[in-house]
Amino acid sequence: MNLVLFGPPGAGKGTQSLIISEKFDIKHVSTGDLLRSAMKAKTPLGVEAGSFVNKGALVPDSIVIGLIKELKVQIGKRGMLLDGFPRTTAQAQALDELMASDKSQISKAIFLEVKPEFLKDRLTGRRVCSTCGATFHIKLKPPQIAGVCDNCQGILEQRADDRAEVIENRLQVYEKNTAPLKTYYQNLKKFVSVDGVGEPETIFKRIAQVVYS
Ligand code: ADP
Ligand code: ZN
Repeated sequence: MNLVLFGPPGAGKGTQSLIISEKFDIKHVSTGDLLRSAMKAKTPLGVEAGSFVNKGALVPDSIVIGLIKELKVQIGKRGMLLDGFPRTTAQAQALDELMASDKSQISKAIFLEVKPEFLKDRLTGRRVCSTCGATFHIKLKPPQIAGVCDNCQGILEQRADDRAEVIENRLQVYEKNTAPLKTYYQNLKKFVSVDGVGEPETIFKRIAQVVYS
């Protein structure tokens, strides 16, 4: 089973991806995570991608499509959960071609729906552990000690693109480039929408229901 998870920045894709990939035993592929680890390691890809990511712009299609092609070779026919890819119609078309090339296909594209007024708070309050990647929120999911990871005592940081100045741009980029994927997957009869407000486990139950619908 291959699933696409998409929605606006701050909808909770990362949190749900961890649950979905574990419960369905499929490989979690996050282009955002891949790009951020390349940026941290300062590889040529990371240096190039960083200039887009930190501004809240999309990394060019050719780069992310190349990343996904490489991964597909490694993963083979084992199912995957795509988190944050595709983000443009061109990426969605490239994905369909890639899937067809080994007779796989996307089963469902799950849209995680959260109203715009919730998104800014979710994003500005988010803090990520610089060591293990665990995420917290200063109001909604505070760590026991401010600025310190509950799991590993690592230092919590704010992503450069979670700053208020950048968030506005990410939301606009989402509306313009990624929201049209709703129609793309509706036309393919693969679109399902899930209410993204509530406890992570509750949201996962909604997802599990629509995946088997
Ligand atoms: P969020 O969904 O919260 O914005 P992600 O971790 O999915 O977070 O993405 C962070 C950033 O990484 C994006 O704003 C963009 O710059 C880049 N990025 C991730 N995936 C893609 C993609 N499929 N196409 C282009 N850029 C991407
Ligand atoms: Zn940690």
